[in-house]
Amino acid sequence: MGGGFYGKGRRGSRSRRLCYWSGRPEAEAVEAGWYPEAPETMAAGRSLSRSERKAAARAEFLRQEEQRERRRQPATERNADETRFLSGCQEIVRDLERLRKKRERLQHRLEEVCDEPEELKRKVSKLSEVVQGAKHLIIYTGAGISTAASIPDYRGPNGVWTMLQKGRSIRATDLSEAEPTLTHMSIASLHKHKLVKHVVSQNCDGLHLRSGLPREALSELHGNMYIEVCTSCSPNREYVRMFDVTERTALHRHQTGRVCHKCGAQLRDTIVHFGEKGILQQPLNWKAATEAAGKADVILCLGSSLKVLKKYPHLWCMSKPPRHRPKLYIVNLQWTPKDDLAALKLHGKCDDVMKLLMDELGLPIPCYDRTKDPIFSMAVPLRPEEEGSHSRKPVALPANLHEVQLGEQQQVPAGPPSGGWFGRGCAKGTKRKKMS
Ligand SMILES: [Zn+2]
Repeated sequence: MGGGFYGKGRRGSRSRRLCYWSGRPEAEAVEAGWYPEAPETMAAGRSLSRSERKAAARAEFLRQEEQRERRRQPATERNADETRFLSGCQEIVRDLERLRKKRERLQHRLEEVCDEPEELKRKVSKLSEVVQGAKHLIIYTGAGISTAASIPDYRGPNGVWTMLQKGRSIRATDLSEAEPTLTHMSIASLHKHKLVKHVVSQNCDGLHLRSGLPREALSELHGNMYIEVCTSCSPNREYVRMFDVTERTALHRHQTGRVCHKCGAQLRDTIVHFGEKGILQQPLNWKAATEAAGKADVILCLGSSLKVLKKYPHLWCMSKPPRHRPKLYIVNLQWTPKDDLAALKLHGKCDDVMKLLMDELGLPIPCYDRTKDPIFSMAVPLRPEEEGSHSRKPVALPANLHEVQLGEQQQVPAGPPSGGWFGRGCAKGTKRKKMS
């Protein structure tokens, strides 16, 4: 299939391109100094994109609020005239008071809270009982589980969005150097020991796959940066690569610049940007995700703000009566919109909680072993004419290369594509929205 897979390819101005893992416009990242070309782009004096304007407006709002806060006079310092004047406009005072409380609530939600070590241990002990007793435990993961792999999360105090809102720069990270974290390895082990049935991840960093978690037990709802596919072949032909394939792709522009070895059609990435609908069967694997959610009695959410996931009703079995919905256990340092519905909220870092949990369960946590990283055996090697088709740093091969069989288990997934919403419109259930 030629052309933009989601419809007409958009004109590719740099400011419209979206960063594949933050979902934010690449221009913001450029502005923030993520990309080496930032100085030129800024020197070119181009106009700001819509998202850049929004980020700037938010930063300005916060600055003004801070100034207002400093000017505010405490009630105890008011004189008789001021008190009388205020009592004459009670309605305005009430409104302002309501706004102040709302602002405090929003600020409180951004704060990171840590449970005391004893408290966290007690909660993990409870969680361990639940994990052992669960009939069908599924795990939802977000950016918070990859922070230990030096991949920034989105909404934490040093997260991508928080920094952009404050107008601060974001340090560059080379995703190819990231390795599965203790949490990734623990999850793979829990699945191996049949304690976890399925993992649904929002992350595109491919680290679950690289931790050894089998494909069928994983739904990467927003794609995988190492996978490109041919959608002209039936069933879709998948090419796992050892490098980030999204170098040339952006919102509504998914062609990677390489072609299918079998039919010659253009390959596309698997990333679902904010505002797009993911329609690839793999690696999104919506079918398995919704089936698993339908059977789940316990959902463990790790390091996800749940702000995007909450919009997928199927993942929460919202059609079931509340008492028949799966029990929620949330591990996050910040507030999430599902906190009030959670059976237990653990305020801790994912790696800390998982270490305690695996100790409680008496299970070892395997160390990441590069020679066993499945990406090397899944990867389809580039043909000689394709060398130089990308400039991204590949995942470093293990030192003892002879122990790895390159391209040993290439897969061709079958079946029709099924989809899910990411971002705008995702709350609209099954109603189709025309992508322009
Ligand atoms: Zn093909």
